[in-house]
Amino acid sequence: MREDHLEVLLYGSPQLRRKSEEITVFDDDLRRLARRMETCMIEERGIGLAAPQVGVHRRMLIAENQRSGGPSILCLVNPEVVETSQEKDKYQEGCLSLPEVFADVMRPVRVRVRYQDLDGREQEIEDDDILARILQHEIDHLEGVLFVDHLSMLKRRILSKKLKELSRLAAAQARESSSE
Ligand SMILES: [Zn+2]
Repeated sequence: MREDHLEVLLYGSPQLRRKSEEITVFDDDLRRLARRMETCMIEERGIGLAAPQVGVHRRMLIAENQRSGGPSILCLVNPEVVETSQEKDKYQEGCLSLPEVFADVMRPVRVRVRYQDLDGREQEIEDDDILARILQHEIDHLEGVLFVDHLSMLKRRILSKKLKELSRLAAAQARESSSE
């Protein structure tokens, strides 16, 4: 295994349920982690990735920025939703930790998120499109929440076979990484 390679933890891993801690040190290690997460997300063809998904319980996420202007990948440290629209809608979500599982999730259409950049400077971003969706999904990860948690019991039951299979894979993944 390449030293720099990050592995995305699968549904069922208890690590995905742990709450992440605030970041207070903005150094080269943090920038390196952001770069490695970027590479990982691109390799896995994701549009967002939160640090706990790669086993790092720190409040950082990266997200593809499909809007014109600005960087193509955003990195948010200590992100916090400070405002949401009353209006909500459904959108089909997926997750690198739940490959091949997709479901419609109801969330506010527009969000305003306060965060710090990699130099620790306070920033704000507002969106009412896919980025708003990605940010809400990834911020959930920092709290140990997964998109399937937002589904009704009935919908979760429909997905239960896939979820059980993923939990088996996650257990195998944990055994593999502990024997490395
Ligand atoms: Zn996810």
